[in-house]
Amino acid sequence: MEKLSNCPLCGSTPIRQIMHTKDYFYTGEEFNLYQCENCEVIFTNPRPEAGSLGKYYNTKNYLSHNTKNNGFTGRIYSLLRKKNIRYKYKLISHLTPKGQILDIGSGTGELLDYFKKEGWTTRGIEPNKKAREFAVKNYNLTIGDENELERQEENSFDVITLWHVLEHIPKANERIEKVKRLLKSNGLLVIALPNPTSFDAIHYGAYWAGYDVPRHLFHFTPQAFVNFSKARGLKIIKTKPLKFDAYYVSYLSEKYKQNHPALLRATIPAWRSNLMANKTGNYSSLIYFLKKETPTGY
Ligand SMILES: [Zn+2]
Repeated sequence: MEKLSNCPLCGSTPIRQIMHTKDYFYTGEEFNLYQCENCEVIFTNPRPEAGSLGKYYNTKNYLSHNTKNNGFTGRIYSLLRKKNIRYKYKLISHLTPKGQILDIGSGTGELLDYFKKEGWTTRGIEPNKKAREFAVKNYNLTIGDENELERQEENSFDVITLWHVLEHIPKANERIEKVKRLLKSNGLLVIALPNPTSFDAIHYGAYWAGYDVPRHLFHFTPQAFVNFSKARGLKIIKTKPLKFDAYYVSYLSEKYKQNHPALLRATIPAWRSNLMANKTGNYSSLIYFLKKETPTGY
């Protein structure tokens, strides 16, 4: 384990512990959440060394890598994924003309498959070998591992997307710098993140599935993400919700609390989260649309 005494994004102190939680999804191991007083990002502390992160993903149930959608959760997930993909496509195609898209953390490839069928040139990056092979075999996509990122040409993508990916990446600053270099000067960067200030996050506290420690190393409040974007030379041009996430995250959170039936119990907090966010914009998950600008630093 790596114990952090400075903020892993801006390098500042002081940092303070704000929560004690655990890996309810898989190992049951305990972790703390700390918040940086300077840039406001919340981060998992201690966190596994970069080399040992893989073991926390080593489960058949990790849905984004689950190629067979067996069971109730799997079927719901699959149905919502289809709706979500159409929604994501609409949002992106309204902001930018057809071109080249790079999806980092492309999973089993459904999103890229959709874009490809709409006439886009697609490329994916996916660290999970099984997910990668599934996408290549089933959708005939071009998907590489993370090393492949280094081999991409600079200024070559019109759109780069990271759907619930940035929070998993230990060296988030470096990754964003790399992504910016690959993006065309007027390119669109799309980053979706869970929101630890949403109603469902407050409601479930340490049980909130959006923390997903230690797979999620960072937990960006909307303000922390504004600070991060500015520091890295990115401007948020638009923010949109992922409303299904309130239901999915609340469902998992109810399961972690061992409440039954979890799906039914999740309905009211999830519905309330979306209703309240209707006024505040504080949805369970947010999609940020960004463009490049001059970096300011922290
Ligand atoms: Zn910081």
